[in-house]
Amino acid sequence: MNCPYCGYHDSRVIDSREINDGIRRRRQCLKCESRFTTYERLQPAGLFVIKKDQRREEFNRDKLLTGIRKACEKRPLPSGTVDKIAEDIEAELYQSGKLEIPTSVIGDMVMERLKNLDHIAYIRFASVYREFTDITTLKELVDALASAEARRTPPTNQLPLLSTEELEELAGRGRQKSRPKSEPLHLS
Ligand SMILES: [Zn+2]
Repeated sequence: MNCPYCGYHDSRVIDSREINDGIRRRRQCLKCESRFTTYERLQPAGLFVIKKDQRREEFNRDKLLTGIRKACEKRPLPSGTVDKIAEDIEAELYQSGKLEIPTSVIGDMVMERLKNLDHIAYIRFASVYREFTDITTLKELVDALASAEARRTPPTNQLPLLSTEELEELAGRGRQKSRPKSEPLHLS
C-alpha cells in the first residue's frame, strides 16, 4: 500500500500482530516517515461477483474500497469510516455463504450504508453506480432523500444536501462517464 500521506510506494513494518482473520501491520513510510496501519486479510477463496454484463470476476476488496473512498472524498467523516463500511460489507458477503453475488447487490449494500451516513457521499456513489445521465434523475434522488428526511425526526449529525451547483457538477461528471444505456432508477 502507498503511504496515505505522501503516496510513496514503500514502507517498513514496525510491528505486526495477528487479529481475528488477518494481520495488522504498523508501517512507517520510507520517505516522509509517517506511520500508518494496514490490515491484511486472509481471504477465503471463491467469492465471485457477477457484473451487469454477466461476466464473473473474483471479489476484490480493494475495488469496493476505492469506490466508497471516491464517494466519501473530502467529506467530514471520521477516519476509518470507509474501511469500516468495506469491512462490514465484505464480512456480510462471506457470511451469506453465497459463492456468487451480483454487483448490484453489493452496490445496494454500499448505498444503504452511505444513505445513513452522509447524503453527499450517497449521491456521489449513486451517480456513478446508477450511471445517472442527466440532472433530472439526480434531482429525483435528492428529492426522495429530502422527503424521506422530512418524514422522520432529523438526525443530529446529518450533513446538508447538495446545492444546485454541486448537482450540476455531479450531473456533468455522470454524463462523461455514462454508457449508452442506463439502468432504471429504483427509489425506495
Ligand atoms: Zn509518506
